[in-house]
Amino acid sequence: FASIADPVAWWAERYPAIPALAEGERVMSYGEADARSTRLAATLAERGLAAGDRFYIVGENGFATALSVLAAAKLGAWAIPINARLSSGEIDAIRDHARPKLALYTDSVSDEATAHGARHGAAPVAELDDLGATLAAFGDADPAVDESGEDPADRVAVMIYTSGTTGKPKGVMLTHRNLLFIGARSGDSRRVTPGDRIYGVLPISHVFGLASVYLGNMYMGGRVDLIPRFSAEHALAAIEGGAISLFNGVPQMYARILELTTIRGRALNPGRIRYLSSGGAPLDLGLKRRVEAAFGVPLHNGYGMTETAPTISVTDIDRPRDDDTVGEIIPDVQVRIVGDDGGALPTDMVGEIQVSGPLVMKGYYKAPGETAAVHDGLWFKTGDLGRLNADGLLYVVGRRKELIIRSGFNVYPPEVEAAITLHPDVGLCAVVGRPARDGNEEVVAFIQPVQGRTPSAADLAAFVADKLSAYKRPGRWEFRDSLPATAAGKILKHKLDG
Ligand code: ATP
Ligand code: MG
Repeated sequence: FASIADPVAWWAERYPAIPALAEGERVMSYGEADARSTRLAATLAERGLAAGDRFYIVGENGFATALSVLAAAKLGAWAIPINARLSSGEIDAIRDHARPKLALYTDSVSDEATAHGARHGAAPVAELDDLGATLAAFGDADPAVDESGEDPADRVAVMIYTSGTTGKPKGVMLTHRNLLFIGARSGDSRRVTPGDRIYGVLPISHVFGLASVYLGNMYMGGRVDLIPRFSAEHALAAIEGGAISLFNGVPQMYARILELTTIRGRALNPGRIRYLSSGGAPLDLGLKRRVEAAFGVPLHNGYGMTETAPTISVTDIDRPRDDDTVGEIIPDVQVRIVGDDGGALPTDMVGEIQVSGPLVMKGYYKAPGETAAVHDGLWFKTGDLGRLNADGLLYVVGRRKELIIRSGFNVYPPEVEAAITLHPDVGLCAVVGRPARDGNEEVVAFIQPVQGRTPSAADLAAFVADKLSAYKRPGRWEFRDSLPATAAGKILKHKLDG
């Protein structure tokens, strides 16, 4: 395969009738998905979209979003799916950076996104009518990027902007090779076959939803139910309905589903679920165990990032682990742990996680300096800290930028956050380092209490006293009604003030 549209065409040619996608009650076969994306590609081409042009997709999960990614691939255009719940300022900021030629807006987006479309003259198109989407053309697009000299598999398929957890979102250029590799590995690691039905709630605008869930399952002939937005009620009903066999989520989704079963006072019925995975953020071991008890199957933890399309490691389907590892490195990927002096570290030592292999991005769009800073041509620097054990299991302990150094000891915020979050009054928590008067760094905890609760600093300090050694305990507690977060629920630590 040289294009991310090829696996779908492969299934369409051999088994056209098997189900590929579903939106609500409507089901689309592989044959239809392939034919519709070819027709959509023709429509986009008539509107001027060509190889190397950027194609902006502002939408929630649904047929229009899923098919337009394939349609762009058929033209050699770069799909840029973005989260439809971004503010209009954020939607504009990405547009102004990517300078796309065309944009697609699905109907069920936020008012801000709808207003953005209206401002840019988005209008109905026959081919998109029954898919509930409109198209807009921009007069100020940058010229197409000329990739004609490159191997087709090394051309850009999709550009995804990072979450912006640590700064301004960066446009990550992912190639067909990157995404085909992760698609094949993801589908394989879950042993997806036709007959599997996947709850596709992770947004296609995020790399985990796009490559690992959507493309990964389509690679193997599974059926992906496209869910526009997460609701614990809907997810629980779908699982208990007995048709869903795979569920991939972020930790918070699992927490909300369990919370709902507690509120209603009846145990979860896992129906036909045979595989669960979590990724995108640290998975607390306590939560992992509660999920496994409720579902009766292991919860696999996967680790990755936008720049690695995303999956670097995941726990093995045949060897579930009862600890907080992010699993074994996926085949054909190399990982090394590097110390401050740039040298590779031995087993069990904590250092920066660096990666090499077919999963590493082509670069950040229009940012050669930033690309060079993270990629030396062979190794990609993840900016995360972790260690590998003697069995080849990877452990992530935190982000390098967020490491707090206190009296010569390293404090990893995720460990402190996990201890604090165990308190029933704590909704969200973010731990950061702040300069202290003695020249050291102070551990500061920002707390968003559960609605209606008012924990005090003294309560929380007493609560963590037996869970954390003295140097890890927060010296200051800051309470806020809400913490700044991305559309996907990640806390924006650089925006915390205090
Ligand atoms: P930005 O790069 O813009 O600051 P971001 O890094 O949060 O944003 P993503 O690419 O969506 O954007 O997130 C990847 C990061 O999430 C990883 O670098 C890692 O820090 C964290 N992460 C992902 N999966 C896991 C996991 N299973 N356990 C712990 N941390 C994880
Ligand atoms: Mg990042």
